[in-house]
Amino acid sequence: MKPKIFITRKLPEEMVAPFREKYDVRMWDAEDAAVKRYVLLEEVKEAEVLWSVVSDAIDREVFETAKKLKIVANMAVGYNNVDIEAAKEHGVIVTNTPDVLTETTADLAFALLLATARRLYHAEEELRSGGWTSWSPMGYTGMDVGGATIGIIGMGRIGEAVARRATGFNMRILYHNRNRKPAAEEAYGAEYADMDTLLKEADFVVVLAPHTPETVGLIGERELALMKKTASIINVARGGIIDEQALYKALKNDVIWAAGLDVFETEPVPLNNPLLTLPNVTALPHIGSASIRTRIGMMELNAKAIHAVLEGREPENRVV
Ligand code: NAP
Repeated sequence: MKPKIFITRKLPEEMVAPFREKYDVRMWDAEDAAVKRYVLLEEVKEAEVLWSVVSDAIDREVFETAKKLKIVANMAVGYNNVDIEAAKEHGVIVTNTPDVLTETTADLAFALLLATARRLYHAEEELRSGGWTSWSPMGYTGMDVGGATIGIIGMGRIGEAVARRATGFNMRILYHNRNRKPAAEEAYGAEYADMDTLLKEADFVVVLAPHTPETVGLIGERELALMKKTASIINVARGGIIDEQALYKALKNDVIWAAGLDVFETEPVPLNNPLLTLPNVTALPHIGSASIRTRIGMMELNAKAIHAVLEGREPENRVV
């Protein structure tokens, strides 16, 4: 019997073809839907490889069911969808896809920052719906980005790529991590700040820390209240790091200016999420890494890791 690989989303055939000769490749192939839970649990029973995506809950039950599993290759840099403790206990390797998506995700963070500052979503919607009736001196006015202060929470790979972009906009750069990064301070003129100082002084707060028990709810009512009334918050990291209820209230009551969100507590976002009713929210469907080249690059990293493990070699980008 050939070793079995289960892939939870339909991938381009050229990514999968190299595995077909030696392995029994099974793939959830619905174009528009995530794998059904019962299918995942059935398929992993015999699988040695689980090639997963960010929306799959690879939890303890999966590891308990998957008795032959050697590797979870997760198509994301964040791996909060995988129960890492359970993986360790079951001796399963977990790999992710760092670096290759850094620049693409930083582009999206900056796109959201600009869109939020200049109210692009609201303005375009007005135009398309016939609401643009005349040029008006103060119509659709927003905030300047050039020369403003950006506050990056999570100055890692993507955070630094955002900081590099911010230098081109002549921005003052504040950042907060658990550890200082002298090299980033040197390279981008970034200033280390504690959370409260960053929140008080930044015109744009950009969240790029991973989703961990420590960062869930990191930005709540108290933190939003510290921000300037004219400031925006951008989340390209993970839903749940900003408390959505608190964010809704802050946006609705003009505690802050606007939010740009690529990620949400529940994804896909239910259409009754109140944030979607606000004109000062720019919302995107988790597309941080979604350029053609980057998504292919992420799959290539997954494929490399899978080949390595199946051939008994140590994979790159091992998380555990
Ligand atoms: P990274 O290089 O590991 O950077 C994460 C940074 O966050 C580190 O500098 C870390 O520094 C900091 N951090 C960790 N815990 C923190 C805390 N409690 N408070 C403040 N800072 C903290 O990761 P990356 O490659 O830049 O990716 C960052 C995140 O972006 C990923 O985890 C992923 O969830 C998200 N992402 C989203 C998309 C998307 O499609 N929207 C795409 C790619 C990535 P310290 O350890 O010093 O605290």
